[in-house]
Amino acid sequence: MSLVEEIKDKIRDVKDFPKKGISFKDITPILKNPKLSSKIVKKLSGFVSNRSTHIVGIESRGFLFGIPVSIEKNISFVLIRKKGKLPYKTISTDYNLEYGQATIEMNIGDIGPGDRVIIHDDLLATGGTACAAAKLIIDQGAIVDGFSFIIELDFLKGRKNLRKFSDNINSIVKY
Ligand code: AMP
Repeated sequence: MSLVEEIKDKIRDVKDFPKKGISFKDITPILKNPKLSSKIVKKLSGFVSNRSTHIVGIESRGFLFGIPVSIEKNISFVLIRKKGKLPYKTISTDYNLEYGQATIEMNIGDIGPGDRVIIHDDLLATGGTACAAAKLIIDQGAIVDGFSFIIELDFLKGRKNLRKFSDNINSIVKY
């Protein structure tokens, strides 16, 4: 089986979660397979350029593979979290989800001018979350070096929204 087939084989589709009409792509079965997780880390690491200085992972599933990729590439990992979770001073932005509205935050000072950042999440849907993350990064004077996802929901055309920040948009499996 190819890596794409192996991943698709493990992704669990949960219909009508978190609300009617959404087919939720549950990646937790992947995590029970360390060999597959290791292949995913290697593949995602290939999306990080040698000039990149940081991986920014989006809560919470963006932490799962974002951290091992940052370790593999020997670069910093920075968290983007939902409002109210980070104890230190934060910078925040509001955005629209495929299924609702939210605010994300990051610690002030985690990234700064000249840093080159890869934004990582488990899944690209409309691109609202990744766009909000990119805005936070640019607001702090850093550069968006690219985007990396395990899954891309092609039919939602989220990629189109990300191109204004970077053309380096990568995903492993598409639906
Ligand atoms: P979006 O901002 O629309 O690109 O949505 C991306 C964020 O919402 C990511 O953090 C995903 O984990 C989550 N998400 C959106 N749609 C789905 C879906 N169908 N299955 C799993 N997660 C999703």
